Amino acid sequence: MLHAAEEIARSLGQDAVSYDDDVLEHHGHSDWSTSNSPERAVAVVYPRSTSDVSAIARICSRRDVPMVPFGAGSSVEGNFSQPHSGICVDFSYMDSVVAFHPDDMDVVVQPGVNWVDLNTQIASAGLFAPMDPSPTATVGGMVSTNCSGTNAFRYGTMKDWVLNLTVVLADGTVIKTRRRPRKTSAGYNLTSLFVGAEGTLGMVTEITLKLAPIPQDTSVAVVPFPTIRDAAAAATELIRSGIQLAALEIMDEQQMKILNEHGSEAVRRRKWAELPTLFLKFSGTTEGVKSDITRISDIVHATTGGRAPFHFARSKQEEADLWAARKESLFTMASIRPPGTELWSTDVAVPVSRLAEIIDWSKRECSKLGIFASVIGHVGDGNFHVAMMYDPKDAEQTRRVAQCVHQMMAMALEMEGTVSGEHAIGIGKKDCLRDELGPETIGLMRQLKRAVDPKWIMNPGKVFDW
Ligand SMILES: Cc1cc2nc3c(=O)[nH]c(=O)nc-3n(C[C@H](O)[C@H](O)[C@H](O)COP(=O)(O)OP(=O)(O)OC[C@H]3O[C@@H](n4cnc5c(N)ncnc54)[C@H](O)[C@@H]3O)c2cc1C
Repeated sequence: MLHAAEEIARSLGQDAVSYDDDVLEHHGHSDWSTSNSPERAVAVVYPRSTSDVSAIARICSRRDVPMVPFGAGSSVEGNFSQPHSGICVDFSYMDSVVAFHPDDMDVVVQPGVNWVDLNTQIASAGLFAPMDPSPTATVGGMVSTNCSGTNAFRYGTMKDWVLNLTVVLADGTVIKTRRRPRKTSAGYNLTSLFVGAEGTLGMVTEITLKLAPIPQDTSVAVVPFPTIRDAAAAATELIRSGIQLAALEIMDEQQMKILNEHGSEAVRRRKWAELPTLFLKFSGTTEGVKSDITRISDIVHATTGGRAPFHFARSKQEEADLWAARKESLFTMASIRPPGTELWSTDVAVPVSRLAEIIDWSKRECSKLGIFASVIGHVGDGNFHVAMMYDPKDAEQTRRVAQCVHQMMAMALEMEGTVSGEHAIGIGKKDCLRDELGPETIGLMRQLKRAVDPKWIMNPGKVFDW
């Protein structure tokens, strides 16, 4: 592995390779995740072009050395960890917008482009890329986890926004999955093969993304409910109403309490009801937004018998403050974590009709653990996260948390749901994927992997085992 790193340094330049311990640690461990591996890569390498990536792959392939792509490291299932060591390929210097086609509403970017920066750069053309995971995330990582976020309710997930990919395969071969038109039925859909593959099939070096028009107007409303079941049931009604909300999110009473006590200054400007709360985002024309707010407010009133006060933003400042509460929630929660504890955050999705039941069940099971546990999520997609703070040195507590998470996965599968709505599989959910898909489907995935990566050197140990 070290010989491979030295050869890469000779090929790309000494400053393209780092052996620094802090750098290796940063690229091998996530504080956001409990799915970490104690192993580290021997070196982190920094390509600047597709041909650099191809050179890295040729060297690693010749020496049978694992390659682990790295975007911003914000994924949470150990997706970029290095259980088999190897070379970590960091795309942070491949961060250019290659071509912007406003008339075609698409953009060609390198994988290291951060989505927030991209949206700032193209905003003046009235366009944006809708997926909104961690604000630090890069397009390469977002493609590879098939991420989503709060906007997925309206805009779908990452797979719906990728037009084509340039990919460097394990042996250094460079392929392009298709061309740039909005539609094609020419040949196998290889773009989709690489979206969500977590870097196990190749390294993405260029991405053409579809863009959406920035809506003329937006607004935000919050609605607290007496119980989490009421909130989830109302969410189901809202989804079924057919009104095209931009986002529909849930935060439980624990999250709301944290906002009151530890939220940013903007968020603490208001006193939040410490009750399970739905956050609704509206977008469209100004008239359309107004009409949607009225209709949604009527539905909430009818479903709850007027027991849930519906509060919508009356100014742009208030809109920003209300939405900030939702966007900051994970960061606020992480910032108050007592030293020595870890955050186990898990992610499931179920058919919308089963949502109230599974959220209610999860809350009850978590409360039996006697630790901090909280539900937050993208309920518009039937997708929610449970975050639990536990002490990893307490073996019994850790065992019970793990058991609770596994029961939650089993419950989601019983409801025809999935064990990963948006965080992918990484090393954390390999067992659960087997339960979800069965040996035949995993068998086909293995055959595909073998066909493109016969030496099993692309991000090995992720999604499923050898
Ligand atoms: C606070 C917070 C909030 C979050 N909110 C959301 C959310 O709302 N929705 C959501 O979906 N996710 C969310 N996430 C998870 C995370 O942001 C996403 O998984 C994101 O897509 C990861 O992007 P990244 O650039 O950090 O990728 P990384 O974490 O660096 O990598 C992710 C995976 O992609 C692979 N990879 C990276 N670059 C490439 C490449 N060029 N070619 C091939 N493979 C590559 C890696 O090997 C790894 O398997 C959140 C995370 C945090 C910490």
